[in-house]
Amino acid sequence: MADEKKTRILITSALPYVNGPVHIGHLAGAYLPADIYARYQRLRGRETLFICGSDEHGVPILLRAREEGVEPQAIVDRYHLMVREAFEGFGMSFDHYGRTSAPLHHETSRDFFRKLAKTGVFVRKTEAQLYDPEAGMFLADRFVRGTCPACGHDDAYGDQCESCGRSLSPRELKNPRSAITDAVPEVRDTTHWYLPLGRMQSSLEAWLSGHEDWKPNVLGQVRSWLREGLEDRAVTRDLPWGVPVPEDVAAEASVDARGKVLYVWFDAPIGYISATREWAELRGEPEAWERWWKDGDSELVHFIGKDNIVFHCIIFPAMLQAHGDYVLPANVPANEFLNLEGRKLSTSRGWAVWLHEYLEAFPADYLRYALCTNLPETKDTDFTWRDFQARVNNELADTLGNFVNRTHSFALRAFGGKVPPLGKGGPEDRTLLEACAKTPARVGEAIEGFRFREALETAMALAREGNRYINEREPWKTRKEAPEVCASTLHAALQCAATLSVVLDPFLPASCRRLRAQLGLEGLRDSGPGGGLGSPSREGCFTWDDAAHPLLEAGAPLGDAGILFSKIANEEVEVQVAKLVEGGGEGREEDSGYVPLESPCAFEDFAKIDLRAGRVVSAVKVPKSRKLLRCEVDLGFEHRQILAGVAEHLAPKDLEGKRVVVVANLAPRKMMGLVSEGMLLMAEDREGRLAPVTTDLEPGSVVR
Ligand SMILES: [Zn+2]
Repeated sequence: MADEKKTRILITSALPYVNGPVHIGHLAGAYLPADIYARYQRLRGRETLFICGSDEHGVPILLRAREEGVEPQAIVDRYHLMVREAFEGFGMSFDHYGRTSAPLHHETSRDFFRKLAKTGVFVRKTEAQLYDPEAGMFLADRFVRGTCPACGHDDAYGDQCESCGRSLSPRELKNPRSAITDAVPEVRDTTHWYLPLGRMQSSLEAWLSGHEDWKPNVLGQVRSWLREGLEDRAVTRDLPWGVPVPEDVAAEASVDARGKVLYVWFDAPIGYISATREWAELRGEPEAWERWWKDGDSELVHFIGKDNIVFHCIIFPAMLQAHGDYVLPANVPANEFLNLEGRKLSTSRGWAVWLHEYLEAFPADYLRYALCTNLPETKDTDFTWRDFQARVNNELADTLGNFVNRTHSFALRAFGGKVPPLGKGGPEDRTLLEACAKTPARVGEAIEGFRFREALETAMALAREGNRYINEREPWKTRKEAPEVCASTLHAALQCAATLSVVLDPFLPASCRRLRAQLGLEGLRDSGPGGGLGSPSREGCFTWDDAAHPLLEAGAPLGDAGILFSKIANEEVEVQVAKLVEGGGEGREEDSGYVPLESPCAFEDFAKIDLRAGRVVSAVKVPKSRKLLRCEVDLGFEHRQILAGVAEHLAPKDLEGKRVVVVANLAPRKMMGLVSEGMLLMAEDREGRLAPVTTDLEPGSVVR
């Protein structure tokens, strides 16, 4: 929950790693929720700053640059620009979008490092590491290749063998060679600085104990890290790309600083601080950033994906605690992962919807809406183009769009383009106005609790109610026979549309701006960049809470008509599905098309399932059914009829005589007029081929 006692809220989104463009999975994880939250806070009138930027250091960028034969700066320049533009296209309302190759970031990170070094926070260790004498540099894991000691694969990486999957350290490789020059590496000593997290664990735990209200998926991961016990982590690396280790700190430790940089995970989160400094400098108030980072009256909220939890809930807070000058995060509402059409998103296999490509096909608000209804808030979720189409057509166009469009165009025709008076109003009109009055607080409460799906659902419930109201009140009938009743109806419906234009603004900013123009509604606080700065009660502006009261004056002029949402045709989504072609085996990523794991299942739940060995006595196709085979299965103690939906994959002879595994206590189900008493377990491979799960044991044996 947001701490209302604090006046200022500083919101950050994970810095995207710019060795490629961003896709919908990124958007659903750390960006869309943060943007909704930031826009809401600004509309509330709260002093708000929303910060993000590109994460531009680290080995993958260096490797990519070497592959392409360009400087690392050229790689990050290309993707920094591309990512920033995609975010702009989606209305991500960052007050500043920085980058970690900026000089101010280098300075901020070096100052941070220097402070921790001078106050004795770090420990130093000297260890033997592989060194390329031709390139004149130490070799990071990925820069060493050689023969895997486990499987003999002759092109394993220094950190992992891609053939057998084993984790390695570079010195375990047989016949190691430098991936840069092919030279045989030498073993040399190198000294690095470490953050002694073990020593910091108790103060971290004390701080975390004040945050039991964080999301369960976040706390679960944090607790498991703490249970295992934290270990020292190196904060420097021997690499030619990154923030150089401060020379004065190295000299004091009698270490040669050349070729040493801060480890990317150390400098990247400092990027939030340096981007805030950059924002302040651009405003001509270079000290203004300190209000957000050093003042106890500032509340810091990090939006991230689940792969970043350890960095934002343990390591960065440990750094901030050790430094001492900065506020610690008040909350880290991490999301789980979004899958695409039932499969894990994969950059290298082309299994992704790229934001810059999406924007060529559809308006940003359509995806903001569809993604928000399906955010992976507590568990992984799946995006499909069919669902996207259904959400846009049935909910945005048919519910919200239809309601505001027919209300607005009726008022233009029947009431001379002005808001008609409520007059005496009937009970139905009051009921709708009461629903409008309650909605802002309800939507706001869900947003404050990081329940964005529920928030959007609550706002859309008002649109549905408005639609139903118009259907029931039938203003096209009362227009002639009872003009005053018709006026009341349109008055209430227009007020409802006005409320919607506020409570949906954080979700659909561009559409709501157009809707307010149609309604002639001016003066809402800006939910976009800069809108959370300056006096919280800016004169002449109304805020989120004001939307609990009628926003339109009787007699006020309405704006021009326009269609807010258009339906999406089948062909349009088919084009998108067709784009999802896999790129072939060139991928460098570990993803291999396996179906993502389900969320964890309690042992007690698993134990409820009674699995038995059974023998398929006979199998025949069920007439008129494409999918079903009717099997007679011997379970030892009895024979059962079991219908298996496998006829498109298996012939009866593939099952007959097989000893299979049966879910024996599944409640009987009726299909095609036949009763099925159980289920045959099937395994499905990555190509979608099915095979029965078999056993050698006699029918009736228990499978556990
Ligand atoms: Zn291997």
